[in-house]
Amino acid sequence: NNFIIAIDGFSSCGKSTVAKALAKQLNFVFVDSGAMYRAVTLFFLRHKIDLQDTAAVLNALEQIQIDFVPHTEKTQLLLNGEDVSDEIRQMEVSASVSEVSAIKEVRTAMVAQQQKLGQLRDIVMDGRDIGTTVFPEADLKIFMTADPDVRAQRRYDELTAKGESISMEEVKANLAHRDHIDSTRSESPLRQAEDAVVLDNSDLTQEQQLTLVVDEYLK
Ligand code: C5P
Repeated sequence: NNFIIAIDGFSSCGKSTVAKALAKQLNFVFVDSGAMYRAVTLFFLRHKIDLQDTAAVLNALEQIQIDFVPHTEKTQLLLNGEDVSDEIRQMEVSASVSEVSAIKEVRTAMVAQQQKLGQLRDIVMDGRDIGTTVFPEADLKIFMTADPDVRAQRRYDELTAKGESISMEEVKANLAHRDHIDSTRSESPLRQAEDAVVLDNSDLTQEQQLTLVVDEYLK
């Protein structure tokens, strides 16, 4: 049986940084489930899909092929063969991704694809509902939290480093907006799995976080 590690939590808690480092250390595959929802959102924006129109949503989902390019330093994501790794991180996508992710049909399609990835190899997957809905039987579940100001600062640094012109207020508003929708939507809302290990990384270095998670893995 494959070993599955689920890492969930609110936006910008540093989930993917830990997940990536962990996957590298254990030689597992890292899957960023948020990137999949972002790719769907980008497709919907480009094709001006009406989110209320279920038939249009289903039709669009059928036209979307998402692939991860393995063995690259940064996780490369292909949307119908096009590398959109940078574009899906832009604020325009962040502003709509939670609305798109709340659509039942979108979740059904993504969860099925994520579960399929878990059948192939040992994986570390990060997201919002990995330990609760995608892999309720995951071998190890981590729930990450961090101080809201620390989270906003991290996301702000990330975006400005990429040359996006954005204010701290916008970043904070976007995080609050997504956290609210993600945790109140009717379809598998973000919540902590009962058997998850909580990791608050507000005051921890990346190395310390990795050590803590590896210790949990070895338990
Ligand atoms: O992880 P990231 O912040 O890139 O995720 C972007 C958005 O995708 C989240 O705010 C959430 O709306 C959605 N998402 C989700 N379920 C997941 C992963 C992400 O609904 N498993």
